[in-house]
Amino acid sequence: MSFTKAHQAAMAQQRNRGRCLHHENGARCDAIISAHSIQKGGQLSLIEEQGHVYRLSADLTTLRATGGKPQLKKAGIKKVSTFRGMCKHHDNRLFAPIDDRPLTFDHEQVALYAYRSVCREYFVKENAARSLAAIIDHPDLPEANRQLLQDAAQGQAFGFQHLHWHKVIYDAALAQRNFAEFRFIVFWSSSPCSIQATGLLFPDYDFLGRKIQDLGPEAEALDLLTFFTAPTDQGWAYVLAWHESSDQTCQLVRQSLQEGFRCGAKLEDMLLRISLACENHAVRISWWNGLNPSAQSAGLAALAVGADPRVGVPSDYLARGCEGLADWTFDSVQDGSSDLHTYR
Ligand SMILES: [Zn+2]
Repeated sequence: MSFTKAHQAAMAQQRNRGRCLHHENGARCDAIISAHSIQKGGQLSLIEEQGHVYRLSADLTTLRATGGKPQLKKAGIKKVSTFRGMCKHHDNRLFAPIDDRPLTFDHEQVALYAYRSVCREYFVKENAARSLAAIIDHPDLPEANRQLLQDAAQGQAFGFQHLHWHKVIYDAALAQRNFAEFRFIVFWSSSPCSIQATGLLFPDYDFLGRKIQDLGPEAEALDLLTFFTAPTDQGWAYVLAWHESSDQTCQLVRQSLQEGFRCGAKLEDMLLRISLACENHAVRISWWNGLNPSAQSAGLAALAVGADPRVGVPSDYLARGCEGLADWTFDSVQDGSSDLHTYR
């Protein structure tokens, strides 16, 4: 088997290796399902056209064909953002408050969206680390690529180890229903929106391009920020959320968002950048196709941030780029992380 085929087979094997990541996983987890991390009925239904959306394609084959640049690919919404990381019993029971009801200013709902984002990333990162480990000794792998793959494998293992730290914290908070431990900012919108996203990151630079956390290998624990879009009664919302254990860095992110806003930066642009920097999103096809070529290349450049482990993340990736590209507007902001309200 060629190296490319072996890699694809190793990735498929991991993707299909279902397991339940619910904090009570055990004997009852007998039916693993393909769960949507971006809700099909809620978030995806807001942007689908004839059952399809664009999603990011940044697998090894695409990256080779495009010289390292990620691309958007058309996909049916049944398959978008799914992962086999939860059993039917736990998925239905745990996520009912967000799958059955629009988002309100509610700690439990926010914690559940954030938890689903963590579980999905946990699933993906563990798969990536395992499938890279499975093919790294393939005889057809050119020596020059071996080092690249070793670096990638190390990066994935590093990310997974840090994510595991947070998964344990989230598991405990949810098991004890300590939803008040979650901090969040909700940006309410009644405008159209052409991107739905659910993701997370270890923030390294803030919205003004200042370094706020060192992601070097010596870091013991990294603060984690999650974000997601969600359907509401009046439209939809964009939410930044974190557990209080990540307060130190996430409060700096929050402050830089406020500072940027006061200095004239648009919330719409800042939140678009953070969405595009993570890979789990879905895009309205007609919106993307209607963008002019320079806007599309700005969007693709934002998507490429972090896609290639050989290229470092630029310090200003959240501070500039994609201005005016987002078609969404926010009506109001509610801050569940502090008593300060300074977005107006
Ligand atoms: Zn289960």
